[in-house]
Amino acid sequence: MTTPLKDSYNRPIRDLRVSLTDRCNFRCFYCLPHGEPPIAPKEQMLSYEEIEYVCEIFVSLGIEKIRLTGGEPMLRRDIETVIAKLSALKSKGLVDLALTTNGYYLPDRAQSLKDAGLDRITISVDSLKREVFKEMTGVDVLDRVLTGIAATKAAGLEPIKINAVIVRGHNEDEVADFAVFAREQNVKMRFIEFMPLDSGHEWSREMVVSGREIRERISERFPLVAVDVARGSETSSRYRFADGAPGEIGIIAPVSEPFCGACSRIRLTADGQIRTCLFSTVEHSLRDVVRSGATRPEIIEYIDSVVLKKEPRHYINDPQFVAPSRTMSFIGG
Ligand code: SAM
Repeated sequence: MTTPLKDSYNRPIRDLRVSLTDRCNFRCFYCLPHGEPPIAPKEQMLSYEEIEYVCEIFVSLGIEKIRLTGGEPMLRRDIETVIAKLSALKSKGLVDLALTTNGYYLPDRAQSLKDAGLDRITISVDSLKREVFKEMTGVDVLDRVLTGIAATKAAGLEPIKINAVIVRGHNEDEVADFAVFAREQNVKMRFIEFMPLDSGHEWSREMVVSGREIRERISERFPLVAVDVARGSETSSRYRFADGAPGEIGIIAPVSEPFCGACSRIRLTADGQIRTCLFSTVEHSLRDVVRSGATRPEIIEYIDSVVLKKEPRHYINDPQFVAPSRTMSFIGG
């Protein structure tokens, strides 16, 4: 039995985010504002067999949650195949297998994802207004994404989480409308502060709508009550509606209320690099180690050594902060 992964600050690492591709069919301005950067050549990408192999090792090291992301993970061919392979790791200690998607392919595929063994889906929806959705994401497909949410429900992949990045001047006036959506649709609505991870490096503090402002905007219409659970390593602070309505509110405020002290996450990029923080400026090539023919104990030793390098916190609020060169679409949000 191997000791569970711990970093040098004694934080247990339980949560692995695996990016399946850095390609995306949306052009969200806060992620890919100037068109898609060059994507990794196919031979540099981890194959499904490699993903399965390293995930099995990660699970043996105490990883309990795997979230598939990207880019747009559903652009990767036969994603159901890798979901089925990873779902089999539940017999070895994996507790939760989730997917973050822009929802475009869900109308036709939600059921096959469920059948393959997926537990949960998070869907990104930045606006409930067709024009604003189009302006923020670069594609005019709000209706299709809403149909995808309905298909996800019909497939029984609940509870559904909806992610909205709130950016000043774009959608902060919709915060309370999203709360209505959470109540009516019985979904977990999560509001995310805009982080400096856009390829255009246009992020500015003025564009960040703080978690506090988001809470206030909702509370004016619907009083909230903090959900009475230890937050643990969760990214969001969670609230329910005081009047007992269905749905939930989550606020993810990494800029104004950092939660690095309880971070349990590491990331694997589509080209096989381990990132120990969203804001890391260095990466560690697990792919090269695996492809060099390293033995399983050598791979474990490498992962252990990388995890020990996990940063104590992000430095967004420090004057000397340098944004990572790769955007969210490469890192895997
Ligand atoms: N394509 C999928 C999607 O749209 O959900 C998965 C990848 S996307 C990078 C994952 C999440 O990161 C999305 O909810 C997206 O809105 C969020 N995201 C991307 N860039 C961000 C930024 N600069 N600040 C905050 N969240 C961001």
